[in-house]
Amino acid sequence: MSCLFCRIVAGEIPSRVVYADDTAIAFLDINPWHRGHTLVIPRRHVDDVVSDPAALPEIAPAIAATAKLLVEKLGCDGINLLSNAGAVAGQEVFHLHVHIIPRYASSPGLRAMIGPDPAIDVDEVFAALRG
Ligand code: AMP
Ligand code: ZN
Repeated sequence: MSCLFCRIVAGEIPSRVVYADDTAIAFLDINPWHRGHTLVIPRRHVDDVVSDPAALPEIAPAIAATAKLLVEKLGCDGINLLSNAGAVAGQEVFHLHVHIIPRYASSPGLRAMIGPDPAIDVDEVFAALRG
């Protein structure tokens, strides 16, 4: 199995899973842009959001549940949802994923959405979400 995210679903590669249901899993991004940056993916392999129109509706309940969890546990002030389809759009992992990006009043606006923040301790965030 060569797909990185299929290997995460299979448990072959460790991840920090914050939500899971029969259809989807949600895990913390290893290179977060904001505290709590999470990826929601279908358990089945789908390349991207346009290659199989059924896939996004399938994972919609997981996206909603994960967004609610992030609001409740991290107290974020807003959320961005993003799914890149195709290399030209910035997609780097070719297994459909929706970025859920919690946003905080200290760093507002769309222009501040993108870009890794190396100061974020992903294990600390994971502990906060599980507690
Ligand atoms: P994209 O550019 O939309 O394909 O985003 C891919 C995302 O996957 C990036 O934000 C990466 O930081 C993230 N990522 C890559 N490998 C892993 C991994 N092993 N665990 C968690 N997130 C990952
Ligand atoms: Zn895959």
